[in-house]
Amino acid sequence: MSTHIVILGAGFGGLELSSRLSSALADDVRVTLIDKNEAFVFGFSKFDLMFGREGLEEMRSYYRDIIKPGVEFRRELVVSIDPGTRAVETDRGTYEADILVVALGADYNFSATPGFVESGQEFYSIDGALRLRELLPSFTSGAVIIGVLGEPFKCPPAPSEAAMLLDEWLTSRDVRSAVQISVVLPWDMPIPVSASASQAILDRFAERRITFVPNQVVTGLDPAKNVALLRDGTHLAYDLFLGVPVHRVPAVVEASGLAVDGWIPVDRGNLATRFRDVYAIGDVTSAPVPKAGMFAESAGRAVAEHLIAQIRDGVSPAPFDGAAACYIEFGDHKVGRVDADFLTGPSPTGPFTAPSLETAQEKKAHAATRRQRWFGG
Ligand SMILES: Cc1cc2nc3c(=O)[nH]c(=O)nc-3n(C[C@H](O)[C@H](O)[C@H](O)COP(=O)(O)OP(=O)(O)OC[C@H]3O[C@@H](n4cnc5c(N)ncnc54)[C@H](O)[C@@H]3O)c2cc1C
Repeated sequence: MSTHIVILGAGFGGLELSSRLSSALADDVRVTLIDKNEAFVFGFSKFDLMFGREGLEEMRSYYRDIIKPGVEFRRELVVSIDPGTRAVETDRGTYEADILVVALGADYNFSATPGFVESGQEFYSIDGALRLRELLPSFTSGAVIIGVLGEPFKCPPAPSEAAMLLDEWLTSRDVRSAVQISVVLPWDMPIPVSASASQAILDRFAERRITFVPNQVVTGLDPAKNVALLRDGTHLAYDLFLGVPVHRVPAVVEASGLAVDGWIPVDRGNLATRFRDVYAIGDVTSAPVPKAGMFAESAGRAVAEHLIAQIRDGVSPAPFDGAAACYIEFGDHKVGRVDADFLTGPSPTGPFTAPSLETAQEKKAHAATRRQRWFGG
């Protein structure tokens, strides 16, 4: 009988894993891919939504269109996971997996930050980006803060990208001179793995009068006074607050006992959890890489290679390299790239390719290849 691999979550990690298993092992495995949503949307598409560059429908890739031999997609909500027996319960049925892979991503805890639900906005969810698309056109003057509310958070460059894109958007509407933009980040530079990318962002901030507030997180908002409280006890006034919410594992993962100190610990070489034949990939883990789609994808690839070798009695593959290309929007349609490598050398490295229109095209092509590889057809 063929091995039944159940993958929970069809984001970057789950889609990469299922497509690689289909290509290599379609005759030897049965893959069930489960997600509560009907469509995949790239994380960075939230910017396109927020600034009205693209509509939600255009950016959706529907799971019903997946054409991958050996892979069956089920749109179901996972309600319980027993990692000891690899049994999964959904709102529609139960699954007994020979091999279980948890790729459920990170959820947001909006109410963890006092005042945020009442007075803040966010661009980290589709709903939040859609709300901003409605709200931004009426914002013509005042102070905007883009602030991180806790670590870890997805896509470390995203708050800086939001600031540079907001600057471009306000400039195009001729109201930039009446708006002050500040970015509050928990580090002394915008992208800790890359001094050169950080410098390029700081240069752009200086050129565009964007204020960088380093080594801080926003611990709360005071909606009555419109001030953001920082962890050092100081505060900043805002007219519009865009927060990067506190992240946490989905509740079903928390209840499963898989998480330790908030996230699922994994073997950094093959992404195995401490439960037999249970793996975890992407944002849901505490793997020593940033929470970003490209790292979730490379973790999906590493687990695929590991399972392919195991099922075929093949040679053990190279361990997870924690390496990925991260694209950064600088505004004016230009995109830069950091080739981050967290695990192969003695310390993380992040060589930087300066922003250009060519790299913006490369980012588009990169997304198109993923759609093709993950959905087929
Ligand atoms: C504004 C913004 C910009 C970004 N830009 C980039 C970028 O340029 N490059 C980059 O690499 N990353 C970027 N990211 C980060 C990227 O989107 C995430 O890190 C990535 O999606 C993580 O992949 P994943 O597979 O771990 O989880 P996800 O892609 O989040 O997938 C998890 C899946 O699990 C499903 N799920 C969760 N709970 C359940 C349940 N109980 N039952 C069933 N299904 C469930 C969800 O529906 C989801 O489809 C950005 C993120 C944001 C918010």
